[in-house]
Amino acid sequence: MYDLAIIGGGPAGVSAGIYSARKKLKTIIMSDFFQGQSAVSPEIQNWIGVRSISGEDLAKQLTDHLRSYESDILTIKEGDLAVAITKIADGFEIKTNQNNLYTTKTILIATGGRRRKLTIAGAKEFDQKGVTYCASCDGPLFSDQDVVVIGGGNAGFNTASQLLAYCRSVTLLESGPTFRAEQITIDSLLKNPKFKALSDVEIIAIKGEQFVNQITYKKSQTGETIEQPVTGVFVEIGFEPNTDLVKGLVDMTPTGAIMIDHQHQTTSTVGIWSAGDSTNGLYHQNNIATGDAIKAVEDIYSFLQKNS
Ligand SMILES: Cc1cc2nc3c(=O)[nH]c(=O)nc-3n(C[C@H](O)[C@H](O)[C@H](O)COP(=O)(O)OP(=O)(O)OC[C@H]3O[C@@H](n4cnc5c(N)ncnc54)[C@H](O)[C@@H]3O)c2cc1C
Repeated sequence: MYDLAIIGGGPAGVSAGIYSARKKLKTIIMSDFFQGQSAVSPEIQNWIGVRSISGEDLAKQLTDHLRSYESDILTIKEGDLAVAITKIADGFEIKTNQNNLYTTKTILIATGGRRRKLTIAGAKEFDQKGVTYCASCDGPLFSDQDVVVIGGGNAGFNTASQLLAYCRSVTLLESGPTFRAEQITIDSLLKNPKFKALSDVEIIAIKGEQFVNQITYKKSQTGETIEQPVTGVFVEIGFEPNTDLVKGLVDMTPTGAIMIDHQHQTTSTVGIWSAGDSTNGLYHQNNIATGDAIKAVEDIYSFLQKNS
C-alpha cells in the first residue's frame, strides 16, 4: 500500500511528487501525460526564476526533476489514467485505464482542467498566434495593441481589466443578451475610455496571415457586420475541471471544481486532497498550482504522521 497516490502529471502533480519523495513517503504518481496545460505555449514569461521558457521546455524540466527522484520510494506511471476510486478499509483503491489497481492511504487529486475552446472559423488556426486563453500569461505580449476579449462573465471582465493596463484598446464581446459579470465591475470598466463592451453579438470569424489581424462579428439587433482590426483575441468562455473521477466522492461546485479548505488543500472526504486547476481556487497559474500542491503534501505528511 502506498502512503500517497498523486493523480495528474501537470505542475501540481509533479511538484507534489518531488516534495513527497523528499519526505520519504511511499508514493505513486500517475498521469496519461506528464506535461500540463501550458506545454502548448510558445513562451512563458512568469515562471518565477526564469525570464522566458517555452511551455514544452518547462514541462520537460519539471518531468526531469521528478524523474530524478524515481526510486523504491517514488513510482512514476506514465500512460495510466485513473478511472475509478473506491474507499477501502485503510484508504482507497484506484483503478486505471490500463487495468492497474493501486491501494493507498491518501490521494492528491491534481488532474487540472481545460479551457472551453472557441470553435468559430480561424480559432483553431490562430490558437497561440493571437488567439489566447490566458491574459496573465500572454497579456504583456500585446502592449499598445488593440485586442478583443470574448466572454461577458466575471472572467471576461477581469481579463479586460488586466489588459487595459497595457493594451491600446480592449473590446469585450458577449454573444448572450446581457453581461454576466458583477454590475460593479462592469460599471467601473466602462468608465475607461479605452474599453468598449458589446452584448448580443454573433462572433463569426478570426482572420490573419501568420498572426491574427482581424475579428468579424455581427450585431444581432441591427444585423450590421463589423470587421475589426485586432492583434489579440482573449477567450474567456469557461473552464472545465477534469474531475469526473471524483464525482460523488468529494464536494464540488456546480461547475465541477473540487471544493477545498484553502489552508490545507483538504477536500470534504478525509484522506483526499486536491491542488491546482482541479480545485475551486480562483486563479489558474503554474506557480499557484505548484505552491498549492506543496501545501497539500505538507498537510498529507502531518496527517500520515498522526494516523500511523
Ligand atoms: C495555453 C495556456 C497557456 C498557459 N500559460 C501559462 C503561463 O504562461 N503561466 C502560468 O503560470 N500559467 C499558464 N497557464 C495556466 C497553467 O498551465 C495552469 O494553471 C497549470 O497547468 C495548472 O496545473 P495543474 O497541475 O493543476 O493541471 P494541468 O496542467 O491541467 O495538469 C493536469 C494533468 O493531469 C492529467 N490528468 C487529468 N485527468 C487524469 C486522470 N484521471 N488520471 C491521470 N491523469 C490525469 C492531465 O493529462 C494533465 O497532465 C496556461 C494555460 C493554458 C491553457
